[in-house]
Amino acid sequence: MPYIPFNRPALAGREFDYVRQAIDNMHLSGNGPFTRQCQTLLEQCLGVPRVLLTTSCTHALEMAALLLDVRPGDEVVLPSFTFVSTANAFVLRGARPVFIDVRPDTFNLDETKLENLITARTKAIVVVHYAGVGCEMDAILKIAGKHGVPVVEDNAHGLLGRYRGKSLGTFGALATQSFHETKNITCGEGGALVVNHPRYLDRAEIIREKGTDRHRFFKGQVDKYTWVDIGSSYLPSEIQAAFLYAQLEVRDEIQVRRRGIWEYYAEHLRDWSDSAGVRLPVVPAHCEQSYHMFYLVAPSLTRRQALIQHLAQQGINSVFHYQPLHLSGMGRQYGYRTGDFPVTERAGDCLLRLPFHNALTSGELERVVAAVASVRL
Ligand SMILES: *Cc1c(COP(=O)(O)O)cnc(C)c1O
Repeated sequence: MPYIPFNRPALAGREFDYVRQAIDNMHLSGNGPFTRQCQTLLEQCLGVPRVLLTTSCTHALEMAALLLDVRPGDEVVLPSFTFVSTANAFVLRGARPVFIDVRPDTFNLDETKLENLITARTKAIVVVHYAGVGCEMDAILKIAGKHGVPVVEDNAHGLLGRYRGKSLGTFGALATQSFHETKNITCGEGGALVVNHPRYLDRAEIIREKGTDRHRFFKGQVDKYTWVDIGSSYLPSEIQAAFLYAQLEVRDEIQVRRRGIWEYYAEHLRDWSDSAGVRLPVVPAHCEQSYHMFYLVAPSLTRRQALIQHLAQQGINSVFHYQPLHLSGMGRQYGYRTGDFPVTERAGDCLLRLPFHNALTSGELERVVAAVASVRL
């Protein structure tokens, strides 16, 4: 029985052609023609003023922290149910992470708990559109606006998703994307910073270029470039951008394929999930999801582990997801304890993700569904 991995990178079509072109261009460092093509495509697709490719979503988040001038003593509100970089990017600048629980339906941050957490020290609110289903942005932006706190969207899951018809990644002052191998569209390791508020446009380019005004030099605005601010090296090479462009170009085909996988799982597991006491993902009617993942919520940790075990015996790799950040070694150092965020803790214990990637075949899909549906929890 061939093994079915949780994720497998898939070529979309013209990756080899474009990487070869990038090499033929003899421009291998960043900011060449492929970087610009990727950025322009994303700017048009999202309808935003500026997208800057970065070496990862983690680095785009670090850029966001630098752009917002996050400093020691500041607080940043973010869900505990997220990837470590959502917190670390701000902690690196000396901020204290202030965690918030998630909603029981979408596992997005619970906007009803947000206002209580905002203090005079709150420097940013970071939202994560879990599984590419939009957070309740109307309520979140209202609270953020009232207190004058900028919102950053960690949109690693949500590229091409929408909330009330508007693209995810276009709500916050800044948003970040990931093109890691496990995401819908990839170049292995890569990311992007989406600059929605014009006040960050110029400085974002400086920070990405090691704190220099190199972008002004290339635009002919200065005759030599120099050190003007803090910054780092966040620009990917043209080889990565070339690979990425091949995927971005066929994003609609990729999304159609992923939608097919998601709907197949949802349709074929509905009856089983009802009888097994397992919950399937919830997508509110006003959210167009990005089809990033398909998860199950088991009734308990023991049953989740049994399900993972059962699937593993049939050669199927299903995986749990975020272990709550507030219960990590770092989280506990900030004084957090078990029981602080019950919904997050339940998601950490009970959620598992089924194989989901662009190269999943219909045969594999049928095998996964048959294996899951044969489990009596
Ligand atoms: C994948 C992911 C990241 C990190 O992305 P990289 O590109 O690997 O740095 C950050 N946040 C979330 C929510 C993610 O899923």
